[in-house]
Amino acid sequence: MRRLVRACFSGTGGYSYAKKADNVAREHGFDRVARLASNENPRPPSPAALEAAAIALREVNRYPDERTSVLVEALRRYHGDYRFVTGSGMDGVIETVIRTVVEPGETMVVSTPTFSFYGIAAAAHGARVVNAPRREDFSVDPAGFIDACRGAKLAFLCSPNNPTGNSIPPEDVETILEGMDGLLFLDNAYVDFADIDYRPLMRRYENLVLGRTMSKIFALAGLRVGYAFVPEWLEPFYQKAATPFALNSVSMAAAAGALADTERVRETRDHVREWRRRFLEEVPFRVYPSDANFVMIDVDPHTGDEAVARLAAKGVLVRSCTSFPGLGNHYIRVCIGEDWENIRFLEAIKNI
Ligand SMILES: *Cc1c(COP(=O)(O)O)cnc(C)c1O
Repeated sequence: MRRLVRACFSGTGGYSYAKKADNVAREHGFDRVARLASNENPRPPSPAALEAAAIALREVNRYPDERTSVLVEALRRYHGDYRFVTGSGMDGVIETVIRTVVEPGETMVVSTPTFSFYGIAAAAHGARVVNAPRREDFSVDPAGFIDACRGAKLAFLCSPNNPTGNSIPPEDVETILEGMDGLLFLDNAYVDFADIDYRPLMRRYENLVLGRTMSKIFALAGLRVGYAFVPEWLEPFYQKAATPFALNSVSMAAAAGALADTERVRETRDHVREWRRRFLEEVPFRVYPSDANFVMIDVDPHTGDEAVARLAAKGVLVRSCTSFPGLGNHYIRVCIGEDWENIRFLEAIKNI
């Protein structure tokens, strides 16, 4: 029956999960492994989020509010008066935006190397992907990006970028917004760890969407909550294209609780910034400066896969960047964890 599977899913590829290294760490006798492969928040969610989720759980016999008002109101309190759409993770928002504007067979632009899901979602939709390669230092060339965008309805840019960690200056985003005809989806999954604010651009451009997630600094990866700042014209069409009730009521309540706990967000940010600095100073390989909760490291003369295996044998899970198209095979991505995890990682990488 495999013949029934669409060509875009029948080969190898797809999203990479960090499972194999987990087994290696366990085989080496570690029952507590340092999980630095998936860019999560190592701390549990805010108590306010857990309480709100527990209360919402009592009413799951009912369908969730389709306007996700609890979350949208919490977002307005947190960010101010903008238009928001929500989804099941930012991944869900990405899929819905693609569905809203791109016809199957049409072109979508992705700035590479970057997060793999844009390409996976495009393939699932039957869209064609054009890659706009970043420069050698992984910065974005606005003129090159605009060229790649000719005739495309939708383009993806990630800032801070996964896996390279660098951000695109807001001025360059403006240049791109003015030069392109289509819609720009600026993925801001890690912007809470940076010192950059792209939100003011929402007031001035009609062709910008800012994607956000509750999975990273807000520590709710398991609940799958994403949202986006959208221009006013897009919102009703997004709602039409969206899967009904994609965001469940428990996740929504937890997200609203987490957004209210700004003290916890600040603590997480401070913790990440402190360790990011130490990784940059102490890792005996080239570490790329990062605005996110992870750093990319060039482990040459090792390959990324070798480094992952060796670190796993020392009880540390990190991500090999080999699967990121457009990147060499000698990079790893390491997320900032709790103190003991970071200390174990630094020890391990110094003796690799
Ligand atoms: C983690 C991540 C997301 C999506 O996260 P969700 O868990 O689906 O909200 C989106 N973009 C990038 C670049 C990410 O790293």
